[in-house]
Amino acid sequence: MVFPRSVLVTGANRGIGLGLVQQFLKHSEVQIIIATARDVSKATELNAIKDPRLHVLPLIVTCDKSIDILVKEVEKIVGEQGLNLLVNNAGILSKYTTKSEPSRAILQEQINVNSISVVLVSQKFLPLLQKGAGKSTAPDFTVGKSAIVTISSRLGSIGLNVEGSGWFEGLAYRMSKSAVNQFNRTIAVDLEADGILAVAFCPGWVQTDLGTSNALLTVGQSASALVNSFSKLTKEHNGGYFTRELEVIPF
Ligand code: NDP
Repeated sequence: MVFPRSVLVTGANRGIGLGLVQQFLKHSEVQIIIATARDVSKATELNAIKDPRLHVLPLIVTCDKSIDILVKEVEKIVGEQGLNLLVNNAGILSKYTTKSEPSRAILQEQINVNSISVVLVSQKFLPLLQKGAGKSTAPDFTVGKSAIVTISSRLGSIGLNVEGSGWFEGLAYRMSKSAVNQFNRTIAVDLEADGILAVAFCPGWVQTDLGTSNALLTVGQSASALVNSFSKLTKEHNGGYFTRELEVIPF
């Protein structure tokens, strides 16, 4: 099992992001945990955690200036060792189906948050991840070296979509997650020479504001399985799309 020295989780003030931070805090190998929230002053649960390894910083993923400011702050925190693991977790789900009132705004917002912002956050953190890859003595293509993990969804799988909008009113959400899966595969190939791993995960159906209280899994169950799987990632997983238990999901 390999753990990162430093990790950054977006959208960490609630839901799965908060759960991931809580799991990372259980591992002493993880020395720096950067948890981002849109409004840090309202991130009550994060702010209540008293652990010197945790840094709570603001990030609005749809705002380029906000990303740029965060990169500078993170650079100061991680120093010459760079960043080992970026977890793109922040996301939204708007109900929208083929038969909805046509709305460019809903489609654009969904894709802006769940796909475009993941691309831009990852690109802007690339220099710090490259630094992390160069400095770490952990094995190549592990989260201890340098990795981008994107929290996607099984609903982004085109191959598995036989239900259309039947039981799930998430056309725009599905599209945004399919797009981010394409990004994951592309950046994995593009960064292979840098030794940086890129992997997409589905966390399962989880009890959060997005997943609703009807969901099957608690945040703790999903987040602990995810962090366990992150620690097992190797080169063979690069560019892949997996369940929280590291089972392959068809694209
Ligand atoms: P939540 O709704 O509980 O939390 C979403 C998080 O994303 C919040 O911290 C929210 O911040 C943040 N966020 C949303 N928009 C932005 C933005 N523009 N800038 C910065 N942060 C933003 O969702 P989950 O925890 O359930 O979802 C986390 C990830 O897991 C998502 O990518 C989701 O698609 C994925 N997922 C979830 C499933 C589930 O069943 N829950 C299933 C499959 C995938 P704020 O509090 O400020 O709104």
